[in-house]
This record gives sequence, C-alpha cells and structure tokens, in this order.
Amino acid sequence: MATQADAQELAALRALSASIGQSPHLTQAAGGNTSLKADDTLWIKASGTWLKDALTDDIMVPVAMAPLLKAVEQRDRAADQPQGFTIAALNPRGLRPSIETTVHALMPQRVVVHVHCVDTIALAVQADGEAEVARRLDGIEWAYVPYFRPGLPLARGIAEKLRPDVDVLILGNHGLVIAAETVAEAELLLHRVRSLLARPARATAAPDLAALTRLAGDSFYRLPADVEAHAVALDSESRRIAKAGSLYPDHVIFLGQGSVVAGRGETVADIIARLGTPPAAILFPDAGVLMRGDASAGADAMQRCLADVTARIDIAARLNYLTAAENDELVNWDAEQYRQKLNAAGG
Ligand SMILES: [Zn+2]
Repeated sequence: MATQADAQELAALRALSASIGQSPHLTQAAGGNTSLKADDTLWIKASGTWLKDALTDDIMVPVAMAPLLKAVEQRDRAADQPQGFTIAALNPRGLRPSIETTVHALMPQRVVVHVHCVDTIALAVQADGEAEVARRLDGIEWAYVPYFRPGLPLARGIAEKLRPDVDVLILGNHGLVIAAETVAEAELLLHRVRSLLARPARATAAPDLAALTRLAGDSFYRLPADVEAHAVALDSESRRIAKAGSLYPDHVIFLGQGSVVAGRGETVADIIARLGTPPAAILFPDAGVLMRGDASAGADAMQRCLADVTARIDIAARLNYLTAAENDELVNWDAEQYRQKLNAAGG
C-alpha cells in the first residue's frame, strides 16, 4: 500500500467485503469480488477465495493495471489470464486475481464492488430487463451490458457501453457492478441500487422433508445445506423457469447445465438411468430438492441462489437463457481461475 489513506480504505473494503460475503442475496460461494485502486496498482479479490473470509484471510492480490488495460484494448488473450499481471513482489502467497479483474480495471473509480445480487439477476435474465431497470434506476448513471462470458469477452462488452460518470453496471444474465471513490460511498450506492431493484419472492409451501428423505433412501443424495434451496421445486413457475435452461454462468460452473426435474413417480435411480449420469441436484415437484452427496459447498450455495432468483422473476416475462454454445463455453472452459474456484469451493 502506497499511503496510510490507501491502507485505511483497504481495511474498510475488507470489512465491506466480509459483510457482502455473508449475504446469500449478494454473493454465493466464491462469486463476487471487490477492488481498490492505489496509484497504478489494483488490489482485487483472489480467484477461488470467498468474500465472507475477507477479514480473517488474506484474499486481496495486487495487479499492475496499465498493462492489463492495454491487453483489453488490444483484445490480447493475455487479458483472460490476469495472473500474468500480478505484482510478484507484493504477492508473497502467489494468489491469482479473479477472472473478473478486467471488470474492475475498466471502471475509473477507486473502489469497485461486483456482486451476484439476486434482485439484479432476477431482472437481468428477463428479455425486458433493461427497460425494467431503466424504470427503477431513474436518476442513477448506469449502463446495461448484455451477456458475455466473464474474462476478456465481458471486458470488451463493458468497454463498449462505458460512458463517463457511469457508476452502476447491470450485467445481463450475471449481476451488478458498483463503483465509487470511497468504500463508504460504494456501500451506500450498493444498498440503494439493490433496494430499487428488489422484488418480493413468491411464497411457497414448506418442503416435504419426510418425502425427500424417503426419496434419498440409500442413494448418495442428501438434503441441501440451506432449507431455502427447496423453494425452486415447490413453486410450479420457478420449476418451469429452472427446467428450461441455465440463467447465469456460476450456475453452470457449479451445478452443470440447467436443472433436472423429476417426473411423476420417478426415483433417484430412475433419473440417473434416464440421464446416464448423476446430476448435482434433483428437483422433486412439491417435495423439494436433493443434492448429490459429493456436491461442494459452492454447489449448495448456487442451488439456494437458483431458488432465490427464480422466485423473483416475473412469471409473464420472456427470459434470456444461456445458449447451448454459451453453456459449452462455460463447461469446457479451461481457464485455470475457474478450476481453482471449483477446488476452493469443494474444500
Ligand atoms: Zn461475476
């Protein structure tokens, strides 16, 4: 850190990061990231680390901003490997910066917070999402960026939409970016935008835990970590939305493509036989969700996220799903950052 003021802001950012990381409505698992610019150095959350650990663990890694921005401008694939831009002398643990580092570098403001905010995602998957956001964010300088794969493609998409004074980005099928000159301002703006975008969740009945326990039987499936995760199987509209495909990248990374809904009378064994492989999660209509026994903590967090997002989507809206090519791009993505993310989520 260059100055005491920078060190103070970094401490404030770590506190804000930990608080954001504790809210499943803002971040799930290793998703979301925060950053602070100190002269030419960008301090950004390390790949695979969890924001909730920001106060107890060293999760911030220093990146040289100017060469990274040059790589984005020149569409250099090096920008897809931000670890190539870390400042080794200030990074004794050899942490790797988030794959979303370029998002932070592109924003001119000193503090950037990127979250997979449930209220934002629920709007940003609707085909009319941009118009809905416009209605709600009147008076705020924001821009809408359609879906691109995180990394260089998303960075290019943002660079095209960025205007001076924009301090809020809505990322289609992805989430929210907030930028400000101080951590305190970023926190205020984050909560303001979130409350402007918020919609109530459709209520559901309670899960049928006895039925789920019977369905799990002696299979290697188990109940989800969060009781809230069941809601997606308990609401017919949420179920319909989930079954139709993948809505955002971390779902694909942690749970695979789309969601599996059990047919009438189908057992866990029937479903595995039908698919030829055991899915990470199974939605049993009007009973709840079962998770594969070896599903990671990240997978549990994303299953809960799916329930929270689908419950808030306008049931009359046309939705933008990730295309087959976009799904494949995520499943087969060999970016080491995401592998590390998976590993960290499993451990
Ligand atoms: Zn993201």
